[in-house]
Amino acid sequence: MIKEALDKVREEIPEGVTLVAVSKTKPVASIQEAYNQGQRVFGENRVQELAEKYEQLPQDIEWHLIGHLQTNKVKYIASFVSMIHAVDSMKLLKEINKQAAKHDRVIDCLLQFHIAEEDTKFGMNFNEVKDLLESDEFIELRNINIAGLMGMATFTDNTEQIREEFRNLENYFQIIKSHYFKFNDGFQHISMGMSGDYPIAIEEGSTMVRVGSAIFGARN
Ligand SMILES: *Cc1c(COP(=O)(O)O)cnc(C)c1O
Repeated sequence: MIKEALDKVREEIPEGVTLVAVSKTKPVASIQEAYNQGQRVFGENRVQELAEKYEQLPQDIEWHLIGHLQTNKVKYIASFVSMIHAVDSMKLLKEINKQAAKHDRVIDCLLQFHIAEEDTKFGMNFNEVKDLLESDEFIELRNINIAGLMGMATFTDNTEQIREEFRNLENYFQIIKSHYFKFNDGFQHISMGMSGDYPIAIEEGSTMVRVGSAIFGARN
């Protein structure tokens, strides 16, 4: 089942777009099955679950933390996590930097933008991102790399609205790229698109899709 579903998703993803297989709530056996089909990038949204799965699975997996991250939990994943998708404050970024430094690592981070109309979803607006990137504190951080932006569209059947929200994020990406990262190739990703909307996200410029249920089946 996982093999067929994974093949189907892969067929829709062009070269240059990274597939993050979102394995939250799913057993290690399911992750191993996807791994055996060549999948190496997996996403989890909870720190404890991520740390446990990391221990049990092959070491060449690239683990992405895609969910909201509390400052006091960064230490549990700093030694191994490949990318943190939902950075939404200077406080969190500083803690990631501090913990990454302890392991002599540079951790890729995405700044989470609030693009949906619901106010339940985390993320920053343009001015908050601007303030963060222009702050003196930010310049001091040596153990994080801002690898791009991440966003989640509104949970709706209105595909035009979803498309518009993704388009906004792509727009912000271009503006921020040209203002702050013009000569920095490390700033390269737009993480947008989930099982229900990743084809639209790809059309609107996504470079990284986070797909869970379309690969592993519905979650409880
Ligand atoms: C769960 C989750 C996904 C994947 O959702 P699906 O609809 O199962 O593809 C993507 N991004 C984030 C942040 C998530 O928490």
